Amino acid sequence: MSTRDAACSCGQLRCTAQGEPIRISMCHCLACQRRTGSAFSIQARFPSDRVRVEGRSSEYLRISDDGIERVFHFCPDCGATVYYLEPSKPDVIAVPIGAFADPSFPAPTMSVWESRRHPWVAVPASMDHHG
Ligand SMILES: [Zn+2]
Ligand SMILES: [Zn+2]
Repeated sequence: MSTRDAACSCGQLRCTAQGEPIRISMCHCLACQRRTGSAFSIQARFPSDRVRVEGRSSEYLRISDDGIERVFHFCPDCGATVYYLEPSKPDVIAVPIGAFADPSFPAPTMSVWESRRHPWVAVPASMDHHG
């Protein structure tokens, strides 16, 4: 089974994920834009028993635009988010794919909150599109 390592900017907080993600999605919502500092976010979800976390993290609880609680874990030293949890789905952990710093990471298959998409961001037609 393949293993992939995610880390914060300074390397203090790390996740090791075994096997392939359950789902990889890109999100154009305004909260993801603020969290990432980018025009959209991309995250991979894994079964939580296949991800090992090492290092210290601070937590930030945010209620998403569609009412779902998400608890973001970020490095208290450099501030990068390395994973987040949804208390309503305790068996799943989401890792922003940029934390893997791996251009060969599989592409997202779904695109959500497209109503908030920056118009210059071109999403491949082959992806699942959600408003
Ligand atoms: Zn760090
Ligand atoms: Zn979002």
